[in-house]
Amino acid sequence: VSIRKRITQMGILSRINAIVILLLLSSPFQFIQSPMDFGPLNFLQATTKSSIDFGRIIFNTPTAVLRPKSPIELSLLLKSLSAPSFSRVTVAARGAGHSIHGQAQALDGIVVEMDSMAPNIKIHRRKEGEANNGFSYADVSGGTLWVDLLKESLRHGLAPRSWTDYLYLSIGGTLSNGGISGQTFKHGPQISNVLQLDVVTGRGEAVTCSPTERSDLFNAVLGGLGQFGIITSARILLEEAPKKVKWVRVFYDDFKVFTQDQELLVSMPDKVDYVEGFVVLNEQSLHSSSIAFPSQMAFISQFHSGPPNTHYYCIEFAIHEYQPSRQSNPDQVVEEISKKLRFMNPHIYKAEVTYFDFLNRVTMEEMGLRSRGLWDVPHPWLNMFVPKSGITHFKDLLLENISPSDFEGPILIYPLLRDKWDQDTSAVLPEPDSDNVMYTVGMLRSANSDTCRDDCLRSQVRQSRRLAEAAMADNRIRAKQYLPHHPTRLGWVQHFGGKWEGFAALKRVYDPLCVLAPGQGIFERKY
Ligand code: FAD
Repeated sequence: VSIRKRITQMGILSRINAIVILLLLSSPFQFIQSPMDFGPLNFLQATTKSSIDFGRIIFNTPTAVLRPKSPIELSLLLKSLSAPSFSRVTVAARGAGHSIHGQAQALDGIVVEMDSMAPNIKIHRRKEGEANNGFSYADVSGGTLWVDLLKESLRHGLAPRSWTDYLYLSIGGTLSNGGISGQTFKHGPQISNVLQLDVVTGRGEAVTCSPTERSDLFNAVLGGLGQFGIITSARILLEEAPKKVKWVRVFYDDFKVFTQDQELLVSMPDKVDYVEGFVVLNEQSLHSSSIAFPSQMAFISQFHSGPPNTHYYCIEFAIHEYQPSRQSNPDQVVEEISKKLRFMNPHIYKAEVTYFDFLNRVTMEEMGLRSRGLWDVPHPWLNMFVPKSGITHFKDLLLENISPSDFEGPILIYPLLRDKWDQDTSAVLPEPDSDNVMYTVGMLRSANSDTCRDDCLRSQVRQSRRLAEAAMADNRIRAKQYLPHHPTRLGWVQHFGGKWEGFAALKRVYDPLCVLAPGQGIFERKY
């Protein structure tokens, strides 16, 4: 039986009788080896893992799961599926499944679990005397977690330059979005720190692409929401890793001063290595990260002495211990910088941690949330990019709509610099205004399953959606969603704005039947 016929059968059967196909799949479903000596494709039954994500809002069950060992298997699968007039089968690559709205799911399709491929991490250290454009970099499989790349590169004294706050995300998953954290103002998002990609396109073609080779595909895939191909390997820029980091928190009761100080910090990339910030809504906002900052309990007492429903703001910044270009030691740099900041004296708190612990800091919060049963719960998150001109309006809108007493989770606010983003990639930023600064705002809410069930969760999801819509439509804000989710085609067209035509044209080239990443809901499968 030809591969095509098998998969056609799968597609039809899944529509006629899901039970029959599950029985078929219960003994690993083997495609017949092709004459070109491709390895057989072993399909597995759908599991809870393949139908769920971190959001726990959408649960789409696939017909089958593939755990490929090599890109050849992906090529074989996608070539078969992209033959004209085929079936309705779609394919979603799943990295760590840390999406919120089913982006890595494939209803009645095939989920490809990328963690099945070996990490294959190869570190290249820039050689002494190498010309200026010689780089240190790592080649790594697309399904590898950033934490594993960090561990391996640290063994060589190196580390990637640009991060996400949480490290248990896959390389392919964050490169399909952007990948941002407190280093983004300095080095750009993770998608600005990639030298080369190996991709299997929706047509099943295995391509190596870079800024100079097949650059249209390279740019399309970066921030491309998985629409053009599956990233099987990436070449990630590395830098010398510091051993330790000075990590500082300062507190504010005035939003304007808070943002002005953040902007001052990001204007000093030669001194400052990381800048973030968050709203301190209630005591809980600080408890989860108190292990690194036990002394900030002094600040928590502010809540008891201040008027009810007061909220504060916290800036976090960090200075790496080791920077060849820097003369002064990190303590002097912290001293010098803090003199320029206008935080609420004496509320400055300092910690010194290893670089690994600093980058892995969200694991500490994860442990805290797990212990309170607040990790494996629904997460009606909202992430926005907001122009500098709209950040105060957006903050007001946000705070008017949430109740500090029952809000669980952080609200992050920190500046990014537009010129660190390559506008040729698929990533979408707000329309340019006169300022290079824009903000990212993350409303990272956990819906406590004990107190917030069906109706409550639905209402929180609706609230996030309404906030996003208001922030996109309001001319004083003009925000765009990061990690976007739009329930309608029109929503997507508006999201991409001037980039839509180019995005859709590249989709026609690289995934013409719209097989890939159906969970994003941008394109409908053609057959
Ligand atoms: P998945 O959820 O598995 O997939 C996401 C999308 O990418 C899907 O469409 C999928 O089909 C596609 N995809 C996955 N792998 C590949 C591949 N190899 N090739 C092509 N397409 C692929 N983001 C930030 O930028 N900064 C943060 O600080 C940050 N912190 C987070 C903290 C937590 C606790 C969580 C849950 C998420 C966080 N995120 C952050 C969001 C995160 O970057 C995205 O959700 C990202 O997509 C997750 O990666 P993943 O491997 O789980 O992707």
